[in-house]
Amino acid sequence: MEFIDCVVVGAGVVGIAAARALAKAGREVLVLEAAEATGTSTSSRNSEVIHAGIYYPRDSLMARLCVAGRRRLYAFCAMHGVEARACGKLIVAADAAEAERLVGIRARAEANGVEEMRMLTAGEARALEPALACAAALHSPHTGIVDSHGYMLALRGEAEAAGATFVFHTHVERGQVTDNGVTIEAAGMTLACRTLVNSAGLHAPALARSIAGMPGALVPREYWAKGNYFSLPGRAPFSRLIYPVPVPGGLGVHLTIDLGGQARFGPDVEWVDAIDYDVDPARADSFYAAIRRYWPDLKDGALQPAYAGIRPKIVPPGAPAQDFVIQGRRVHGAKGLVNLFGIESPGLTAAIAIADLVVEAAG
Ligand SMILES: Cc1cc2nc3c(=O)[nH]c(=O)nc-3n(C[C@H](O)[C@H](O)[C@H](O)COP(=O)(O)OP(=O)(O)OC[C@H]3O[C@@H](n4cnc5c(N)ncnc54)[C@H](O)[C@@H]3O)c2cc1C
Repeated sequence: MEFIDCVVVGAGVVGIAAARALAKAGREVLVLEAAEATGTSTSSRNSEVIHAGIYYPRDSLMARLCVAGRRRLYAFCAMHGVEARACGKLIVAADAAEAERLVGIRARAEANGVEEMRMLTAGEARALEPALACAAALHSPHTGIVDSHGYMLALRGEAEAAGATFVFHTHVERGQVTDNGVTIEAAGMTLACRTLVNSAGLHAPALARSIAGMPGALVPREYWAKGNYFSLPGRAPFSRLIYPVPVPGGLGVHLTIDLGGQARFGPDVEWVDAIDYDVDPARADSFYAAIRRYWPDLKDGALQPAYAGIRPKIVPPGAPAQDFVIQGRRVHGAKGLVNLFGIESPGLTAAIAIADLVVEAAG
């Protein structure tokens, strides 16, 4: 049986960042990915927003790792020539009641260590974004957008330079915890490793359940929440990201822009049982009224179905928001196994910081 010091399952942004951190810590690393390339799943089906760290509960992993990961992402991109732009974001209140809620949002952001959040009057917001309708707004200057593919490529480059190897078309079927680590079966082979990092995204709970010796009671049930996007042809009406005041269970229908200046709205929330990335054009109906609360000039029929991603949820619809779960031996007692569950947004922003905790949990 072949022995590898450390196997990472999944070459999404988090698996790649974990492989890079482990290799830089001197570990021998093999990344096994079922698909034909890096980042073909959730890591290429998101908003590409560099989140500042505004909404997450204080001291949650999401809050800590988003703020830390965001600072390191900007520094990494600057050093590696990856395009990342701090375009800023406005959270816009449609009326006086929503404007009051901005105060609480700013307080939470500041408690999380988000810098330079500033309250704007309607006039000040419109001076920045003339097409905007609002009663007040909260400005987050450190929110930005990133070329997620360039980012993953650069992380992979550093991982490989530190000795990590990536193997594609290799689906990890199952595993077993042993006295010395974990053995896994993949592509007809059995491999033994001292550390197994389960970074399989939507399939991480299923993979954990297939590992004999991993206590099943500690594996969360997976729920999938699809997010559909609609794009707006032509020039974007705003130069910053525009978010309504969040609604219970979601951030509301917001506008993001990509580095090419294309505007898109979404993602919405559609709970699904199967992976299917088609966007139903009829879902646009619910977008129009929501968008017109802050952009009244939106024309009928302007929205085009764009793409969708699926959030790896570990709580059911209606439950309080989840946090990232990073499980090592201290949690589940299985030597050599690190599970990553519920790595939804802000996982792209937080990836480098998540990777540091993986190295720690891998012992
Ligand atoms: C709609 C949406 C919008 C988002 N927007 C943002 C945003 O703007 N900013 C932000 O910071 N975050 C955002 N996120 C979150 C971010 O995209 C994810 O947190 C991040 O991409 C997760 O990366 P990952 O590596 O954990 O998972 P993935 O990218 O899903 O990678 C997992 C990989 O594991 C592989 N795999 C699975 N099972 C196996 C197996 N058994 N054997 C081998 N390989 C396997 C898969 O093929 C896949 O490539 C968004 C997410 C969604 C869904």
